[in-house]
Formats: sequence, structure tokens, C-alpha cells
Amino acid sequence: MNYLEQLLHAQSPDWPAGLPGGLRLSVLGEGLLAIEPAAPVFDLFISCGIHGNETAPIELAASLLQEVLDGQLLPRARLLFAFGNPEAMRRNERYLDDDLNRLFGKPREQTGDGPAAQRARELEQAACAFFAASGSRWKLHYDLHTAIRGSKIEQFAIYPFPHEQAFDAGEIGRLAACGIEAVLLQSKASPTFSYYTRRHCGAHGFTLELGKARPFGQNQEVRLDKLEAELRRLIAGEQRDYRASAAQPTLFKVARELVKHSDAFVLHLDDAVENFTELAAGYLLAEDGAQRFVVEEPGARIVFPNRKVKNGLRAGLLVVPTTL
Ligand SMILES: [Zn+2]
Repeated sequence: MNYLEQLLHAQSPDWPAGLPGGLRLSVLGEGLLAIEPAAPVFDLFISCGIHGNETAPIELAASLLQEVLDGQLLPRARLLFAFGNPEAMRRNERYLDDDLNRLFGKPREQTGDGPAAQRARELEQAACAFFAASGSRWKLHYDLHTAIRGSKIEQFAIYPFPHEQAFDAGEIGRLAACGIEAVLLQSKASPTFSYYTRRHCGAHGFTLELGKARPFGQNQEVRLDKLEAELRRLIAGEQRDYRASAAQPTLFKVARELVKHSDAFVLHLDDAVENFTELAAGYLLAEDGAQRFVVEEPGARIVFPNRKVKNGLRAGLLVVPTTL
């Protein structure tokens, strides 16, 4: 069987009759499966395809899963794989009725009950059930993405707001080992999957942005070799300590959120502007009716600019360098 082919063709998977080494396979929903060794050393959740057109990490996750299913890669970690939005993957769309990664942890009154909201709830429940069974073991969740636009810093991660906990230097070092060059430390809650698993499942949840989104089969320029190597080590149950490693990512924090309040919103950036483009102090970044958004912070850079978001939502982040 080829799991990804079958998922993309909406065929019910023909599972292997048995997995080697006493592994247990549980299907938790479409694109959702857990693989459990008898005596796991820790718990690893790999999600991808939350945005259906972000294909490079889907291909990577599927190939690792396939090796496990084929008995070529023997896990000693307990594994959950999630292919977030199979129908959007089939259509090569970022999302269908709503952006999944803005729906996690939100009440039904805010999300409605459309297909995306229902899928977000299914993913939340799968993640919670998976991590609830892991007790005091170390829990790691990497939610893998590629970005709409290019980036001055090609591979970066979002470290969701950890509330009363400190940002974890070992996990930041691990991200560097995965090839991540910059980490954006968040200072407030967000409706993303990685924030959800961190807040509600006790996991070290991270969003990884791994390059520019391209269609299936066209990801030769997305370099995932370091991430793949670390995921292989993790799947095999090897937990390296990266606190003192020489390679460390550049750290950024959010200085200000740019919010689109009305239809009068104008963003003074070219549509092709790359993530982490530097903006000079004094630059008029946006106007919204009478409101003016002027850059004041030294070393400021723009991340995730998007003039097309709905009113009331984030149209970009202004970030600045920081330290732990
Ligand atoms: Zn994405």
C-alpha cells in the first residue's frame, strides 16, 4: 500500500496485516493514525497538511509513516500522525470553508459548525486522547507548514506562548538541529494547533515553517534533510540534548500585531514581499480609515503580511530581535 496515494484518492487504506515488533496501529479518523510500541520512551506527534497546499511537509511525514508501516523504520517513540485537511490536500487549496489554523481552542459560537470547525475539533480530540495516554512522558508536537510567500529567513518556527512556563532552551536548540534558522517567541495565546497542544495537552508544541508552498512533486528546493534526520532519531526513540549545542537559531518576539479593522484597510507592502523583510523606523506600514500604523521599533521585520484576511483578524506581525 501507499498511504499518501490512497489518502489523496479518498480510498480507504489497505492496512498491513500486522506491524513488526509488536507495534499497534490505531486509525483515529481520516488522515489520523497512532502507532504504539509496547514500551514507548516518549510521545511524538507529527502533523502536516493543516493547510492543504503545503505539500513538502506532507510528503516528508508520509514517507516516514510509510517506512514505519512497511517495517523499515522501527519506532521506539509512541507516534501520532495527522494529515490535517485531506480534502484541501486533494484540491491543492490552503483551506476550504475556513482557515483551520485559526480555529483551534475556540468555542463553537466563534467557529460555527462548518467542515473546518468540525475538523479542528476532531484534531483537538485526537491530540488530547493521544497525549492523555502518555502520562508523565516527554511530549513533542511538530506542526509542519510551508508559507504562502518566500522568506528572508527560509526556515523558521513559531514558539507558542508558554504562559507561566519559560521558553525551553533545549527545545529551541532542537529546532536548530532541525534546520530552523529563527524562532519567533509568542507572547499571547493564538488559535493554532501548536498552541492548542501546548496549552491543553501538555506537549511541547511548535509550528515549523519550512519554505515556500508548492504543489506535490515540486518540492526539490525545500530542504528538509536536517528535519528528516532529527525526526528519524526521534521516531527511533533517541532524545538528544541540544541545550548546549553550538548551532542556535536567531530569536524574535512580536513587537506589535497589525490588525485589519475595516474594508478601508490598506497595507503598504508589495504582495511579493518576503517574510522577515526589514522595515525602517518611520515607515508607514498600513492605514485603516483614520488609523495609521507606523514602524517605530529598531530592527523590525514583517512576518505573515496578508491584506486579504477578514476584518478583525491579524494582517501581519511586526517582530524584533530578542534573547531568552
Ligand atoms: Zn500553513
